[in-house]
Amino acid sequence: MQGIPLKTDRNTLYIRVETLGKTPPMTPEALERGTKWLSGADLRPTRQRLSLASLLVGDGQNRHVTAEGLHEAVLASGDKVSLATVYNTLKAFCDAGLMREVTVDGSRSYFDTRTDDHPHFFWEEDGRLTDAPAEELEIAGLPTPPEHHEIATVDVVIRLRRTT
Ligand SMILES: [Zn+2]
Repeated sequence: MQGIPLKTDRNTLYIRVETLGKTPPMTPEALERGTKWLSGADLRPTRQRLSLASLLVGDGQNRHVTAEGLHEAVLASGDKVSLATVYNTLKAFCDAGLMREVTVDGSRSYFDTRTDDHPHFFWEEDGRLTDAPAEELEIAGLPTPPEHHEIATVDVVIRLRRTT
């Protein structure tokens, strides 16, 4: 599957839309799930929000997406939404508590429809982010935060490299 070339200072990154799988059709069921999901956070179901929501949660599965990957999927579904709108809408979904942002490195943000604390695998070979088994993670201690600060979140991203 082809990715979208993303220019960075260092090189060209190809973000795959693999995490989305095939673009699900906007079935009445997907739209209904999307509507419910938005109303759970008191977000008005505008056409663009609904279109993105049904791509994200329309099949009832959790997803990790990049703004670029979701943008590609929404275009494939026949809807015209700008990348900036996709990004801003994902941010709004995070602010509303519907999604969580996971930053893998400075240049790449993933958005997760699963909002509880859980670790991730980052697959360096193709830039995928997937859930890692939370029950196998044990954090014995954390550094004391500096004065006047508390730990807001601890993101665990385990980077994978192919061995063979
Ligand atoms: Zn996740």
